[in-house]
Amino acid sequence: GRSIPQMLEEDGPSFSFEFFPPKSDRAEALLWESIRRVEQLRPTFVSVTYGAGGSTRDRTVRITGRIERETTLTTMAHLTCVGSSVSELRQVVGAYADAGIRNVLALRGDPAGGLGAPWTPHRDGLDHADQLVSMVRSLGSFTVGVAAFPDTHPESADLAEDADAIVRKADAGAQFAITQMVTDVDAYLRLRDLVAGRGRSIPIIPGLMPVTAYGQLERMTKLNGQPLATDVLDRIGAVKDDPDAVRETGVQICTEHATRLLQEGAPGLHFITMNRSTASQEVFDNLRAVSTRH
Ligand code: FAD
Repeated sequence: GRSIPQMLEEDGPSFSFEFFPPKSDRAEALLWESIRRVEQLRPTFVSVTYGAGGSTRDRTVRITGRIERETTLTTMAHLTCVGSSVSELRQVVGAYADAGIRNVLALRGDPAGGLGAPWTPHRDGLDHADQLVSMVRSLGSFTVGVAAFPDTHPESADLAEDADAIVRKADAGAQFAITQMVTDVDAYLRLRDLVAGRGRSIPIIPGLMPVTAYGQLERMTKLNGQPLATDVLDRIGAVKDDPDAVRETGVQICTEHATRLLQEGAPGLHFITMNRSTASQEVFDNLRAVSTRH
């Protein structure tokens, strides 16, 4: 098959879906239902996350490898530096290669103390994602993606520092970037333009996650490390006592963001599914209804 950078270059906007490795057999069965549904949409790729502190290493390898073997999907496995020595990281990359996985999202990971806590690298490990990019690229014919933060990474002083981090990762060999969930399209455009202004053409794919329940907002804020855009909070807040209206509004907002991102030339859309995928699929269907591409 073709690589993710090749598909980004040749096919126009990519559509991808992110899953996490489930903890139980029941959760794994639900994940497979989602994967089979997503497979019908013929996305560009799907990705599987790597648990905090490397806690899901074996499950990430197993699930991603199984998707690679048993479906027609192109897979990407996430990988973080947290809690691992360089030789352990090499072993994981070797396990990815053995499982037929060709695409890796190279991340530093959050500090053991949680997002915003001070970062301490493993004593025999790597300090930053750019070093992991170099390592993975040196170990074989992998394509490598990296993370990007339009709402500013909690450890960065400002967005310019985040643009510099992407430049460093691109120069280390990263071929594309994926952002945290975008709730403010203008913030995405600012980061993209800062990177372009530094003379790098690395595609930056916006991450998207439709709000499906009021209680999810707190979790999303924690995941992003920053408050969500106020108009999102206001629109969801206005219907917070009606679960159906919350979900409908969440899908509507996400559809609006996706539409504008594509109009502004975003190289693709990466949906964070939380393994359920039906809300992301509704957004995808809404987009398809208004686009001529499909
Ligand atoms: P880095 O690029 O190393 O950046 C971290 C901070 O250090 C930034 O403030 C940056 O500006 C600064 N910096 C970068 N390079 C240098 C340098 N060389 N010198 C000095 N400062 C530097 N986490 C998981 O645990 N598992 C996952 O599967 C996962 N998937 C993710 C997917 C996406 C799309 C995104 C956006 C994030 C994901 N994360 C995941 C979270 C991510 O690991 C954390 O946000 C982490 O804190 C930052 O990772 P990074 O790769 O951007 O780190």
